[in-house]
Amino acid sequence: MSEEIKTMRNVALAGHGGAGKTTLAEAMLFKAGVTNRLGKVEEGNTAMDFQPEEIRKQQSINTSFIKYTHNKHSLTLMDTPGDQNFFSAAKTCFPVADSMAFVIDGVSGPSAMTEEAAVSALEYNLPGFVIINKLDRERADYSTSIEACKTALKKKIVPICYPIGAEDNFKGFVNIISGQAFVYDAEGKSSKIDVPSDISDDIEMAKEEFIENVAELDDDLLEKYLEGEEITQDEIKAVFRKGIQDAQFYPAICCSATKMIGIDMIFDIITDYMPSPLDRGDWIAKDVNGEDVVISPDPDAEFCGFVFNTIVDPYAGRLSLFRVISGSLGKEGNVVNTTKDTKERFSQLLYIAGKEQKPVTRAVPGSIVAVAKLKNTLTGDTLTEGKDIQIPAPKPMPPVISFAIAPKEKSDEDKIHEAVRKILEEDTGLKLQRNEETKQTILSGRGLVHIEVTAEKIQRKFNVGMGIETPKVAYRETFKKKIRVQGKHKKQSGGHGQYGDCWIVLEPLPKGSGFEFVDKIVGGVIPKNYIPAVEAGVTEASRNGILAGFPCVDFRVTLDFGSYHSVDSSEMAFKMAGTLAFKKAAVDAKPTLLEPVMKIAVKVPEDSTGDIMGDLNSRRGRVLGMDSEDDKQIINALVPMAEILRYAPDLSSMTGGRGTFTMEFEQYDEVPGDMAKKVIDRVNAENEENK
Ligand code: GDP
Repeated sequence: MSEEIKTMRNVALAGHGGAGKTTLAEAMLFKAGVTNRLGKVEEGNTAMDFQPEEIRKQQSINTSFIKYTHNKHSLTLMDTPGDQNFFSAAKTCFPVADSMAFVIDGVSGPSAMTEEAAVSALEYNLPGFVIINKLDRERADYSTSIEACKTALKKKIVPICYPIGAEDNFKGFVNIISGQAFVYDAEGKSSKIDVPSDISDDIEMAKEEFIENVAELDDDLLEKYLEGEEITQDEIKAVFRKGIQDAQFYPAICCSATKMIGIDMIFDIITDYMPSPLDRGDWIAKDVNGEDVVISPDPDAEFCGFVFNTIVDPYAGRLSLFRVISGSLGKEGNVVNTTKDTKERFSQLLYIAGKEQKPVTRAVPGSIVAVAKLKNTLTGDTLTEGKDIQIPAPKPMPPVISFAIAPKEKSDEDKIHEAVRKILEEDTGLKLQRNEETKQTILSGRGLVHIEVTAEKIQRKFNVGMGIETPKVAYRETFKKKIRVQGKHKKQSGGHGQYGDCWIVLEPLPKGSGFEFVDKIVGGVIPKNYIPAVEAGVTEASRNGILAGFPCVDFRVTLDFGSYHSVDSSEMAFKMAGTLAFKKAAVDAKPTLLEPVMKIAVKVPEDSTGDIMGDLNSRRGRVLGMDSEDDKQIINALVPMAEILRYAPDLSSMTGGRGTFTMEFEQYDEVPGDMAKKVIDRVNAENEENK
């Protein structure tokens, strides 16, 4: 059984959207004989991008899985989305890959998302390799791309191919390890040729550099190299393989996915050098006390699996994708979800092949499989045979932009909430909240496109239309002047009368104090049992401030005098008196509009800092200071929420996708005069319209 694990390879394809991952996966399927025609992204017929949103956008939105056999090896490829809107779907898959293939656009080089994927690879210490793709395109350049990868991937890059021809004339490569040269025909078939004489000097240099790079990894080899002794290919390969598996460097190759140049080299790298689940070795889980527990990829050990992805189908229900970490599973069985502390039963083990799910009878360590209809299991959960351990799940990526959502048809209110809840199960990059103050349901995600695509998915999967709009800002109102007023409610014409009379002092309190009510009634001028009614009247009235109906904060009301009537006074009457008093006081106590202010930390490349600061200033931001982390600058600032509701796309365009930010609520601050007037006029007009 260990042979089965030894020949297993789980590879994540990572890189920028458009670098050619899906095309590459198609070419690999075709070359491996799984498909008999080459799917094209432009024609919407690839095996990997099959969801309608993906076909329309010609872009991966979810991670797709494909499994096939090549040269007695069982390969599972994960084609991960490379757009920042959908990157959380890539991040959840990286921990279950044993290696990563970075697909680089040979024209534009590594992008911000490639850098993000490289951070994940470092985090999980994943070995990997680099595919410089699209080398047939105009202005594509192999060595420039390799240089750029050294910085972007934060790793040593060791080229093992040298291209033959460039751009339109790119036709093959020399394998630096074997010294053999190959060119490809229009069908992507290779033939061996002599190393072209015009590049033979370059190849010698590349070979020298390669051996130097490898020799550095092993003292014995280095000594032989320095002594000028002969080093055999097997010796080099062994050290090279170990260097790759220890993630000391990434080997790099040249490729054109559309011309199918280099695909066989990719197969060889995966089977010869990338790790199997056995090479990957032990995993560390946590027991109930948070202590480390070692889990080995042993098929005879107790079963442990990690759920890394969930797909929601409105008809078939929930599909949970997991990797077997240790032990084995048959086609049906019982497991314990230790994260949720529940038992689960499954009746058919599956594996995912593009859009299809195929039955499988057994899964061993390293297997990436799926089961349908688990009741309580979600992404990030651990499944075991009973042992109470958990595999630490990666933290979901924090949302960066929020929208208010509502059903397009009013009657679909319940339907939309149910649909969004289901979508949240498969997309850990989304977050749903209710803002009671603005009475809006807020859906937050990784970008505008992320939310738009979610709306499309909801329409397609659940047949309900979802509208999205910029969320309302939860303004507040406060007071700047101390004032004493009387609130008197008196109705004594006919029947039982009403009488309540109170004097209150309304005064401002420091920021963040909320609302205080103080009872200073002496001598029973208002009987004790009516005092809570006055407070209730004030509290209720202060929920809708005088300026634009926002809740009032940071003030104190002191009840210090009043009068009552032995027959006509009641709780109702005193509540009314409290309300009247508050409303009267509010007018003259210099009511002021407050806005939420966010603390934002913007992480950007050094050369963007000037632009970012200028932009923050224009958003009424206040820069607090700067820090640096790795090669990036972090700008800390306070910015009014109203100015930053759509910051994510703006930051992305200012930094070429290389900027990230986190944001949290900090405090309420006064809105400057003319700005306040605009907000008040707008909100009052809206309120009038909605009456
Ligand atoms: P992904 O987003 O990384 O999956 O990239 P796709 O596979 O969707 O490719 C994006 C575009 O680049 C498509 O139009 C492909 O046809 C094109 N493309 C991919 N690989 C190559 C290549 O090697 N050469 C050329 N000329 N175009 C390519």
